[in-house]
Amino acid sequence: MGQVIDKFEDFKLNKQLLSAIAELGYTTPTPIQQQAIPLAQAGHDVLGIAQTGTGKTAAFLLPMLYALKYAQGEDPRALILAPTRELAMQIEENAQALSTYTDLRIVALYGGTGTKQQIERLEAGIDLLVATPGRFMDLYLKGYIVTKHLKWLVLDEADKMMDMGFMKQIRSVLEIIPRKRQNLLFSATFPDKVAVLSEEFLEFPERVEVAPQATAAETVTQFVYEVPNFKAKVNLLEHLLKDTERFHRVMIFTRTKKSASDLHKFLTRRSEGDIRVIHANKDQNARINAMEHFKDGETRVLVTTDVSSRGIDVREVSHVINFDIPWIHEDYVHRIGRTGRAFAVGEAISFAHPGEVYHVGKIEELIRMEIPRQPVPEEVEIPPTPRQEKIDIEREIDTQRRKEDPTFKGAFHEKKARPHQQNFGNKGGRKGGPGGRGGKGGKKGGAKGRGSKGRGRR
Ligand code: AMP
Repeated sequence: MGQVIDKFEDFKLNKQLLSAIAELGYTTPTPIQQQAIPLAQAGHDVLGIAQTGTGKTAAFLLPMLYALKYAQGEDPRALILAPTRELAMQIEENAQALSTYTDLRIVALYGGTGTKQQIERLEAGIDLLVATPGRFMDLYLKGYIVTKHLKWLVLDEADKMMDMGFMKQIRSVLEIIPRKRQNLLFSATFPDKVAVLSEEFLEFPERVEVAPQATAAETVTQFVYEVPNFKAKVNLLEHLLKDTERFHRVMIFTRTKKSASDLHKFLTRRSEGDIRVIHANKDQNARINAMEHFKDGETRVLVTTDVSSRGIDVREVSHVINFDIPWIHEDYVHRIGRTGRAFAVGEAISFAHPGEVYHVGKIEELIRMEIPRQPVPEEVEIPPTPRQEKIDIEREIDTQRRKEDPTFKGAFHEKKARPHQQNFGNKGGRKGGPGGRGGKGGKKGGAKGRGSKGRGRR
């Protein structure tokens, strides 16, 4: 490839695109843009390993928008597939912004909302289609999409697509579109499943990678608080959120929709400022609303699940707080990708109870770095762990141990015969959870130490 292109003017782009780029405030191409744009413009299939926050969306949009040029015919000439409706909307928004000075017609198709408007827009003629695989196939099978003019296909967040079980649907899409086309595949991580997909999908691809696989964005400072239970997490969160200056735009991630809702209710009662929640059970309008308010800065705190951890383009998120540790470890990378985006700096703080320390270890393996522990501030009250919660945590730890060692019978298993008997005292000192990472948990026991002390006092 030779020299590095450090000005947008040096790419093969037209005035319309350059004006839009300037208006969006992009001055320098990001590394993924520097690498991917010339390759795509030279006609190569591209395999891009880049997480959200690297500027990868513009990396595939710009060459495509340049090639599409202006509105032409009725049928789409380019298709971008994305795993979630949030990401599809995000890409559409980005594409609309970049094509402000063209007459290109861009439509996003996603589920969770009626088809009527989407069909009307399709029927009005279209150049670029952004879609989730399910809704795309749905409308295709009903005869609303003509695929024969498709010349570009992009799979964005391919790893997430695989996690969400879209392989079959992607294969059906590949069967109904012309063979002669240019393909781009972007993924934050490159697990085997994505390697298989890229072999099926790409022809002699050029691979570009902006950070080693699953490396957390370098601009993000990360640390973990080890806390014994849910209530302690809530207390710690409240304590942190009191600092409204430092924590000025916060995304809080939970693992389940229910805990997102519970936490939202709890925080609305006890913390300052507008707090919103978004997850898959909320209707589309409520989600869009919450997102808009958060983007405007009107909402300081957004509570959400991993559904929203990808593709959402919110600038200057000061903090990502992992209220729960994700069990899909790649999601950690995507969650923390919400902060430190592009060139800004951010903090990612994770709360881990003893049943989650195992997952922290797995995440550390994935990102190939240790996430430093931080002691829980003295002011934070650490209440004792309720009995049922202790049981749940023990059960999680047993499951993890069994995963690591299939012959392990499980401490919980033995206790099953006498469920009424509380017998966790001997586990209190277990350090770092299972999975052979115990040594690690041991040295940072700040939170745990305080946790057990607190329990003793009360
Ligand atoms: P992405 O990784 O595509 O989700 O982009 C992350 C964020 O960076 C988005 O807010 C983009 O609008 C922004 N962005 C993309 N390219 C550039 C650039 N060259 N300079 C500054 N910001 C950019």
